Amino acid sequence: MLKLPGLIDPHVHVREPGQTHKEDWDTATQAALAGGVTMILAMPNTKPPIFDAATLDLALAAAKQKARCDYAQFLGAGPDNADIAASLAPRAAGLKMYLDSTFGELRLDDMTLWTPHFQKFPKNAPMVMHSESRTMAAAILFAAIYDRPIHIAHVSLKEEILLIKAAKERGIKVTCEVCPQHLFLVSPSPNSKGIGGGSRKGRLEVRPRLADQKDVDALWANLDVIDCFATDHAPHTLEEKDSENPPPGFPGLETLLPLLLTAANDGRLTMDDIIQKSVTNPRRIFNLPEQPETWVEVDENAAFEIKAAEQFTRCGWTPFEGWKVKGKVRKVVLRGRTVFDDGKILAEAGYGRNVRV
Ligand SMILES: [Zn+2]
Repeated sequence: MLKLPGLIDPHVHVREPGQTHKEDWDTATQAALAGGVTMILAMPNTKPPIFDAATLDLALAAAKQKARCDYAQFLGAGPDNADIAASLAPRAAGLKMYLDSTFGELRLDDMTLWTPHFQKFPKNAPMVMHSESRTMAAAILFAAIYDRPIHIAHVSLKEEILLIKAAKERGIKVTCEVCPQHLFLVSPSPNSKGIGGGSRKGRLEVRPRLADQKDVDALWANLDVIDCFATDHAPHTLEEKDSENPPPGFPGLETLLPLLLTAANDGRLTMDDIIQKSVTNPRRIFNLPEQPETWVEVDENAAFEIKAAEQFTRCGWTPFEGWKVKGKVRKVVLRGRTVFDDGKILAEAGYGRNVRV
């Protein structure tokens, strides 16, 4: 039995408030614990989005009642909340800026709307960018101009990882995360059988999109540039995924560690890579506290097949359905208490703590 520190996932869509038919603070944090994740950072693009004191309180009230692992909640950057967001920074995981392709209140249509957030959000508080391709280059330029750290979410392309490498070499304060779907899945050919246990193309929809083999190869070739592994756990129900208008997003909390352990087994990663990118680096980048008496017990040699039917997420599917992996989470201890044991969640709703209090 292998003992690991509790994992930190800095990118989770909990779906509460507003879309609890997909997921809520209860099921998301059960999925986290079952995956060996003892702390999650929740994204703000809920319904309503989290962008001021009232909406932050709304999310935190639900979390306080239901969460079974530790957590913090991001604020979203909107067109006119730079002062409010800055004043709420100590209570939040950080500020999430959606610089590409987002609709609703968190849309930042042009760069004049980025400026007040870069000017006002405290430099020691985390700022995370959804910024793909050339937008990412613009975000890195802002980090250089305002001389503050930024974290790039879900890097998926060769051009992105190479630019981040170059920016780091120039001393620009940029860190980044990569999601399992961009390390382990490749954009399929149009006539492929699909993924996630079905052939409907909605199951392939995710943002950033699944990339080409050259991009996947570039991520693996530049593992040292990747600071964090993050799931971007973004659950939608199977009915929604198979509908005429499939929403983009994959669940990921329960498959992260088995996929990483399988890669370690195959010699593509080391255990040290996993601990660095899933514990040490996220803790440093997001200023997160240590979780005392917290660990995950893993059976490195247990081979099993990933099955949505055995998961705790409410969404009812996984893009990795049927994958044979090696490395099973047996037991999770959080702050001295066994919270997951042999397939069962033992932590009650509300056991999870807000790490920003
Ligand atoms: Zn996301």
